[in-house]
Amino acid sequence: MTTGPATTSDAALRTALDGVRAFILDADGVLMYRGAPIDGSPAAVAELRRRGIPYRVVTNFSSAHRSTLAAWVGKATGMPVDAAEIITAASAAAAYTAAHHAGGPLLVLSAPDARREWAGQQVLSPDEADARTEPVAAVVIGDAGDDLSYRNLDIAFRQLKAGAAFVAMHRNPWWMTPKGFTLDAGAYVLGLEAALGRRAVICGKPSPVVFRQAVAELRAELAGRDGGSTESRLRIGDIAMVGDDPKADIAAALRVGLLGILVLSGKVDAAEAARSRVRPDAITDSLASIVHALENMPGTSGRA
Ligand SMILES: [Mg+2]
Repeated sequence: MTTGPATTSDAALRTALDGVRAFILDADGVLMYRGAPIDGSPAAVAELRRRGIPYRVVTNFSSAHRSTLAAWVGKATGMPVDAAEIITAASAAAAYTAAHHAGGPLLVLSAPDARREWAGQQVLSPDEADARTEPVAAVVIGDAGDDLSYRNLDIAFRQLKAGAAFVAMHRNPWWMTPKGFTLDAGAYVLGLEAALGRRAVICGKPSPVVFRQAVAELRAELAGRDGGSTESRLRIGDIAMVGDDPKADIAAALRVGLLGILVLSGKVDAAEAARSRVRPDAITDSLASIVHALENMPGTSGRA
């Protein structure tokens, strides 16, 4: 990717990063692009680790459990990836139902591997849900592939109509795969919303749900390290979100009070970034540039 007039100067990038103590990283377009690691990103993540700067990788990819994803990314990038450092739209939805519908029966339409995120929660099959006289506590719609059948969606619809809470991983109507344009699970969410006349709680990006979860995890990690000292409590403005999508990453991060740093290693180039109405705190070519800028600011980041 080329850099151009839209990118932030090195000095301004260092100013934007002043006081940043933790990161939220998008995966596609920041760590990897089209399945291959982005130049310098594995080394940049290794440097964050070495400096003791906590981070979470936040992605809307939701057809697998985080441990599966960690293994894939680890294999593709050659860097060790810990499943606990990843938050997917599926894990965010599972954390949401654990917090808001604890102990309640759930109908979760997702890929079987991603459904492992609900381990310990009461997940019913569509038939089990349909056989009950009371509605389930919540219906979760995710990337279930062929399980997003008429039959299962009709059962989900009836549960929702009877009063179940409506939770969804994302509202993306389509995405690009090796097949080309591919129908995504968000199209079914939009259809159910139209049929019901009410909106789902979205847990993946650009929803604040997933960002708040990342912030809570980063806070807990730093507090655990510092023995829970309130003086060191991580403020939301001390966390930078690094993403390649001006709307789904940057605008969404800015709305919850995070710093938003746009990188040009994925979806948009400098010209598109300049045309966007979203105003990131900084624009730079890649995660490597951000970590390089940190290296030139001794003592301002990472209470290692
Ligand atoms: Mg991305």
